[in-house]
Amino acid sequence: MRHQNFIDRDKLYGMLENNAPTESQLNDILNKARKLKGLNLEDVAKLLSVEDEAGIQKILDTAEYAKNEIYGRRLVLFAPIYTGNACVNNCVYCGFRRDNKALKRKILTLDEIETETLHLLRMGHKRALLICGESPRNDANYMVEAIRRTYAARDEKGSSIRRINVELAPMSVEDYAKLKAEKIGTYVCFQETYDPVAYAQFHPAGTP
Ligand code: SF4
Repeated sequence: MRHQNFIDRDKLYGMLENNAPTESQLNDILNKARKLKGLNLEDVAKLLSVEDEAGIQKILDTAEYAKNEIYGRRLVLFAPIYTGNACVNNCVYCGFRRDNKALKRKILTLDEIETETLHLLRMGHKRALLICGESPRNDANYMVEAIRRTYAARDEKGSSIRRINVELAPMSVEDYAKLKAEKIGTYVCFQETYDPVAYAQFHPAGTP
């Protein structure tokens, strides 16, 4: 996955040193959080520096309050369909990395995608996440066909997937437009770290 150095690493690490809030500072930050307007960088750095149990419990209570106010008691489940495990990248933590010669590579056919979708429908799923490694073998045109087949699948009761989200590599504007035209829910490009030092460590040369 691609990355940009737009993060001031030294500043962020510096803010975490000797920055534990006093009790009254902690209360002020949590009262601000309860207004549901967000916190700034300094507030967050102070919260991350809290180590005592009572302080951590106050943070958890506030987080629960904010979650319930914003989302209520709603829980959304979605099921992944891995359409392929081929990948041109070499992220060291991932079994799909190209140097992993022990892995048998597989790109699902459209029929196989339909079979997977039917399994999920019979289990009651209504939301699917299409996800795969970064490879010319699963380019945007393949994903368009995969999305169409997933939406078109119907189980014995006539149930179908209501929403498909995708987790895919960065792509061209034209390719994003193709996905949008297929009525996907959300596109996510997942990047495990924005720390440039950790990024270089976990993504050796050749990984964009
Ligand atoms: S780009 Fe994604 S699938 Fe490919 S090796 Fe990295 S984490 Fe794994």
